[in-house]
Amino acid sequence: MSFSRCDGDAWDPASGVGATATMAAAVRAMASRGDGRLIDDRFAEPLVRAVGIEFLSRLASGEAGDTVEEVWVDIAVVRTKFYDEFFLGAANSGIGQVVILGSGLDSRAYRLLWPAGTVVYEVDQPQVVEFKTRILGELGAVPTADRRVAGVDLRDDWPDALRAAGFDPGRPTAWSAEGLLGYLPPEAQDGLLDTITELSAPGSRVATESKPNPRPGDEDSTKEGLQRISERWSGHGYAPDMARLRYFGARNEAGPYLAERGWALDGVSIRDLFAANGFSSLKDDEMRMGDLRYVSGTFGGTVK
Ligand code: SAM
Repeated sequence: MSFSRCDGDAWDPASGVGATATMAAAVRAMASRGDGRLIDDRFAEPLVRAVGIEFLSRLASGEAGDTVEEVWVDIAVVRTKFYDEFFLGAANSGIGQVVILGSGLDSRAYRLLWPAGTVVYEVDQPQVVEFKTRILGELGAVPTADRRVAGVDLRDDWPDALRAAGFDPGRPTAWSAEGLLGYLPPEAQDGLLDTITELSAPGSRVATESKPNPRPGDEDSTKEGLQRISERWSGHGYAPDMARLRYFGARNEAGPYLAERGWALDGVSIRDLFAANGFSSLKDDEMRMGDLRYVSGTFGGTVK
């Protein structure tokens, strides 16, 4: 399967960058299985199965688990918990407007216990948001918040689509960009973070991942790791060219970039979250993931 990024490329959950949403959901489904599970995303498996990529369906169903290294399941656990806690903390402290950017097959609008009246906006490519709405509707799933969607490309003028869905920039918002930034070109990442800041009333919160710029050799190592995954999976009939879905090269680091624009952020490294959960799978870190930090914080409203 060959795919290269270009301006204006589009996708559904089975193709291109959209398949990364299905991969993420497949690993969440794996992490949600069994008695000792640390997360509980009961919608991940049916969503992945509905996409129809046989290998990912088997993964989500608990078969073929040996084709995914433990580290990916552990990442799904710490990452899901981090964003779940971020959103519940924000919502329970009175923020009634939530925007999930690059929402993919994330089912938080259906599975978190949101306070009454919370509005959750999901923003992703049109075919991705439409797919989730349709499949979860067919399954009889009912949103646990006032869920609204904006199907739009995040490299385009997405605030218009968000406003058209009812978003009110005058109210504090809890924003997330989970597993998204590396799929945006560097300038689109800056644009996205600038727009979040512009649309944030004082007291708004944000959560995302922040990665320092690569050291020499880091990106080659990451590409080789992705290539190895593609090769392993191609033996099971699924061969996404994962190294070509992301944008590599230098870019601004999200945490410091937001801090310079008036956000007071805290961060925790993936390494610390692994240690806190007793996970040891990041030991060799061939894909240089240990430097990644999950950052979250509040907008003071002084700098725009
Ligand atoms: N946040 C979800 C999660 O953690 O499961 C999905 C993560 S997935 C790795 C990346 C998501 O970002 C996909 O759903 C993809 O469609 C979305 N995305 C990437 N670039 C985008 C763009 N330019 N416009 C809209 N959505 C985009």
